[in-house]
Amino acid sequence: MAEETFHGIPRNKIPWYPTIDYEKCLACGKCVDYCKLGVYEWDEQQGKKKPAVKNPYNCVVLCTGCQEICPSGAIKHPSKTETLEIIRKLRKAQHH
Ligand code: SF4
Ligand code: SF4
Repeated sequence: MAEETFHGIPRNKIPWYPTIDYEKCLACGKCVDYCKLGVYEWDEQQGKKKPAVKNPYNCVVLCTGCQEICPSGAIKHPSKTETLEIIRKLRKAQHH
């Protein structure tokens, strides 16, 4: 079950999730199998199966697991430093 808040912040306010570069993707399915949180699902377009980020906010904030196991370097996440800064600002705003 995905968490709905992260340190008290609604999860969908935190822009952390993978993106796929389809120019590099081999459609091997490793990311779909690897992530147990259902972030990825298969998509079919013109008879071709490809992975898609269907549930971005199920992604664990700051996890980069799938990025590390992708054999073609097709998966990217935002900058950790920038994401931590966004979280810090959101938390600060909540305390006012
Ligand atoms: S692991 Fe990488 S190459 Fe394989 S389907 Fe996922 S994004 Fe594409
Ligand atoms: S970064 Fe982690 S939680 Fe997010 S999609 Fe990849 S494996 Fe799943």
